[in-house]
Amino acid sequence: MTKGVKISKICEKPAKGELKKYLEPKKIYIPLIIHWDDNITVLVKKGDYVFKGDMVAKSRGDFRTPIHASVSGTVLDYEEKYYLCGKKVKCIVIENDFKEKVREEKISKISDFTKEEFINRIKENGLIGLSGSGFPTYIKYDNDLKKIIVDATESNPCTSADFKLMETHIEEILEIIDAVVDIWNMKEGIIAIKKGNNELKTIINSYIGTYVKLRLVEVPNYYISGWEKYLVKKICKVNCKTFPTANGIVVSNIATMFAIYEAIKFNKPLIERVVTFAGPMLNNPANVLVKVGTSTSDIIEFLGGYKEGEKLFVSNGPMMGHSIESDELVISSDLTSVLVMQSQEKRISKTCVRCGECILVCPANISPVLIHETKDNKDYHPEKCIDCGLCSYVCPASINLRSSVRKAKEAIR
Ligand code: SF4
Ligand code: SF4
Repeated sequence: MTKGVKISKICEKPAKGELKKYLEPKKIYIPLIIHWDDNITVLVKKGDYVFKGDMVAKSRGDFRTPIHASVSGTVLDYEEKYYLCGKKVKCIVIENDFKEKVREEKISKISDFTKEEFINRIKENGLIGLSGSGFPTYIKYDNDLKKIIVDATESNPCTSADFKLMETHIEEILEIIDAVVDIWNMKEGIIAIKKGNNELKTIINSYIGTYVKLRLVEVPNYYISGWEKYLVKKICKVNCKTFPTANGIVVSNIATMFAIYEAIKFNKPLIERVVTFAGPMLNNPANVLVKVGTSTSDIIEFLGGYKEGEKLFVSNGPMMGHSIESDELVISSDLTSVLVMQSQEKRISKTCVRCGECILVCPANISPVLIHETKDNKDYHPEKCIDCGLCSYVCPASINLRSSVRKAKEAIR
């Protein structure tokens, strides 16, 4: 396994400053897709009135993940918007009546939950991995778990939404980690941060003392520090052949833990999240609490707009993300960040110089250069790619290896 790479600074993280809130969009656009799965059944029709938190659609695949309305109001129609993968997807448009009507307010005592109740609650509330993975959370927790590792390394450059959540909701996050440790009868729960992140260390250390089964662990500050298998290897010295849950270890990131807290405590579906808006072309970069389905253009206007010049939008960070043509990108639950960069000349790919760097850095132990160069590349296992972007980042010939591997992976899918 690669030890990771130091990434040079790409843009400032908006870590300082308050957590902003933009929770009153006039319309929301609920994307009919969950990560890659667009096999969705719509449960509402034009003219229907929906409450905030109502299930408006559900995936038909194995996971049956529900999709909820993030406002109360009237279903208007369908419209296409950009989704984080750079493609346009069909969205349900709901006109916000600004009443925030919900079916039933329910506050629960977290410590009363059994394992089964916990899993059902996060399933019903449509929780998926909020670090960008989009994997249904209940699947991970429906296992015989011995340990939880909470990823607070926020490895994606330019993103600081998790830091902001820790700064503003540390008590809730520690409470839910401790509850998981108790409910699964684990020996301990671990919070992993990057070595040198003293600000975060101070925040955690100010509260963790009252939780005897929780401890803080610092991991080397390399990309891709938040990769599940990397964390498990570094912290537990276990080499995971498949998912860490097969070894009794569950890894969740900070945003997911906070969403679990809200689902368990308040029965709140996944309808809001914190997203980082950063990049040199924004007047006021910030971390913003937003509703799923909000249009990025509305949020950027709220933040004070753009600087003059050609812009390039990047969803989910410069390493793993996608370029988007316009700010008609819709907030989805698996969107961690929106970067607004200066539009640059397309980088020109040169000829491979056979340096082997892309193979050396690949954490999935595959050969990006061979996948890029070979038409029938299934035998080189592109499906193992974790989409980290390191191969493209290190390539001295500027070859977009990640894109080739991604295409090969999609062809298999
Ligand atoms: S092939 Fe995939 S996993 Fe390997 S370095 Fe490239 S993007 Fe990362
Ligand atoms: S890093 Fe780029 S130049 Fe080096 S072997 Fe891979 S594709 Fe070729």
